[in-house]
Amino acid sequence: MLMMPFLLLSQTEKVDLEIIYKIKQEGNNNSKMEELAFGLTDLTGSRLTGSPGGDRGNEWAKKKMEEFGFQNVRIEEAADFSRGGWDNLKTYAAMTAPYYVNFACLPVAWTGSTNGLVRSEVILLDVRSESDLEKYRGKLNGKIILMPSAASASHEISFEPLATRYNKGQLDEITLESPPALGGRAAQPFDMAAMMAQRQLRTKISEMLKSEGASVILNNSGIYNIPRASGAMYSSGESEPVAELNIPMEAHGRMERLIRNDVKVEMEVEILNKFFPNPKIYNVIGEIPGTDKVLKNEIVLLGAHIDSWHGGTGAADNASGCIVMMEALRILKSLNVAPRRTIRVALWGGEEQGLNGSRGYVEKHLYNHATNTNRPDHDRFSVYFNMDNGTGRYRGIYLQQNEMARPVFEELLKPFESLQCNTITIKNTGGTDHLSFDRAGLPGFQFIQDPIEYGRGYHTSMDTYERLILSDLRINAIITASLAYHAAMRNEKFPRKPVMTFPERSPFPW
Ligand SMILES: [Zn+2]
Repeated sequence: MLMMPFLLLSQTEKVDLEIIYKIKQEGNNNSKMEELAFGLTDLTGSRLTGSPGGDRGNEWAKKKMEEFGFQNVRIEEAADFSRGGWDNLKTYAAMTAPYYVNFACLPVAWTGSTNGLVRSEVILLDVRSESDLEKYRGKLNGKIILMPSAASASHEISFEPLATRYNKGQLDEITLESPPALGGRAAQPFDMAAMMAQRQLRTKISEMLKSEGASVILNNSGIYNIPRASGAMYSSGESEPVAELNIPMEAHGRMERLIRNDVKVEMEVEILNKFFPNPKIYNVIGEIPGTDKVLKNEIVLLGAHIDSWHGGTGAADNASGCIVMMEALRILKSLNVAPRRTIRVALWGGEEQGLNGSRGYVEKHLYNHATNTNRPDHDRFSVYFNMDNGTGRYRGIYLQQNEMARPVFEELLKPFESLQCNTITIKNTGGTDHLSFDRAGLPGFQFIQDPIEYGRGYHTSMDTYERLILSDLRINAIITASLAYHAAMRNEKFPRKPVMTFPERSPFPW
């Protein structure tokens, strides 16, 4: 009997243990993770969609891909961006009475500037319904407005650890299927009416603050004295919204308690923001072309979103995903592999405002959403792997209900049992770019990752290089490289879900 050395033959999956050995050696002993991590965090800074930082990130990634020898490297237009471009040039906020203290803060993206340095009394806007607004009419001109927030009053100390790794029991639980309740609704239905009422009140407040000439709006955002970033619902070409700042709960709570105890609070604030017309959303793309005469036209795709919020440097969310995908392709390139299919890496723009980059890519190359029909490349697409769960190491994969892919992953992840990456769950995971592919009927997967500092670091000014665990990211790059290589070598494309149609689709895919 002929024995194939290093080849473990299963029913359909050939696992090439020799290439896995080489991938591990390259990924561990010649890792570029540190250099990549520095490049996409400290060097480029934050990468808000449509901002100069976003352009810096894209240019850096393109240059790095070229340096690594990827081919067909390009910054590809994906979509228009309705909010327009925006950048913060200066922010300063301090309480000046009853005593001086400066506050950490972040301007709300797509809001306007102050008229230089503003010094003013802080007014606590005690508004629970539209009728409450009347008592403030004529009293807000030039004032700094503290928005009402229940959060500081109800805040309780957390005894949860900031970072954890999944234990065996938790991973077992993740594998359990939880069928949807009757009617397809979640157990606790989302209160759409309450959300809409809240949003409507907020719009009324914004209109009034603008017409009354308030100078700055202050929001309560997050704890640990860390401001969290957010963005206004702004459309390019509209007049600039009133300057708005997110301040930590500790700052908000202190001023609110002072005001409620009849202590006069004053602040000085200066915010300078810049708007840019008509920016686009871009994806940064590079690849190792396939070598098989026919299969080279088929794509195995690796991706992560390169845009971030403007606090911090978008390290865990999601430089980590980008550099893992780049490093995975670099490892394969440096091993001089000759994949049968093309292995492509795509770094998506505009994820945080609605998966814009990946949706644009799918629309352009794979699926016509207007007519609900496949584009020609749909048939030449194999699989998409996404990483967007922070810096934690891979512990397995979400099948996204694609049971047909389970035997493939079982074989392909077997060599990584010693790295504890072998949990395969039928469950869906949402909120990021693999959904753009899944919704177009294509296999799109995202990894289960250890939940490292997820709540604290995300979208805050704390999401910096310090949040990264480079040794975890090295493991992720090694596993991704192996999955990509094997997907590119197997005889068949990755298994797809059979096409089925159902009456309704959610208008909010993320
Ligand atoms: Zn993200």
